[in-house]
Amino acid sequence: MKNICVFCGSSMGKREIYKTKAKELGEIFLKNKITLIYGGANVGLMRILADTMLKADGNVIGVMPKSLIEKEVAHNKLTKMHIVGSMQERKNLMAEISDAFIALPGGLGTFDELAEMLTYNQLRIHDKPVGILNIKGYFDNLLKFFDHAVEERFVREEHRNNFIVENNIESLLLKLKSFKPVKIGKWIDDIKEESL
Ligand code: AMP
Repeated sequence: MKNICVFCGSSMGKREIYKTKAKELGEIFLKNKITLIYGGANVGLMRILADTMLKADGNVIGVMPKSLIEKEVAHNKLTKMHIVGSMQERKNLMAEISDAFIALPGGLGTFDELAEMLTYNQLRIHDKPVGILNIKGYFDNLLKFFDHAVEERFVREEHRNNFIVENNIESLLLKLKSFKPVKIGKWIDDIKEESL
């Protein structure tokens, strides 16, 4: 697993531990010679993570829509920056060039990216491991909501559990390496039948 995409806040968050863990993730990527793929910004936890790696000559690839570059939030010291036409193209390219995805605490942009990758796995557009680094239980309420969605029969339990949740970075990486997203045969057909 060489290329890992990280979704995380364009803000720093309230607690120091979010920054500390973003930095630790960068250090562990460096140690394991992992290339970071991320949104390419020079703000928030995204910047902490990218800078930690760049300072030690790590490989950092950004993917950013032209409109955000124009707003001057782009990091200008990356190993490589892909400039794309839209937020959707950004997610598509990140999905294509990454072997796995990790979500760190973040806001709506992070939720969007995380949900998109989980949906890609659900629809079998790809099957790449997704992990959540649940720093200080930041994602607990979201995970509870996922349970609620299963309870209400909008999400299948197999898909609810189709990702890894960890608060230790080394264990998250180990689990991601061996994780095989579920492959539910005829998923679309099942849904069609249920909708009748
Ligand atoms: P958020 O979680 O809302 O702070 O958004 C961060 C995530 O969404 C990142 O993983 C980015 O890919 C994307 N994103 C949202 N807003 C920005 C921004 N201002 N600059 C760069 N990327 C952003």
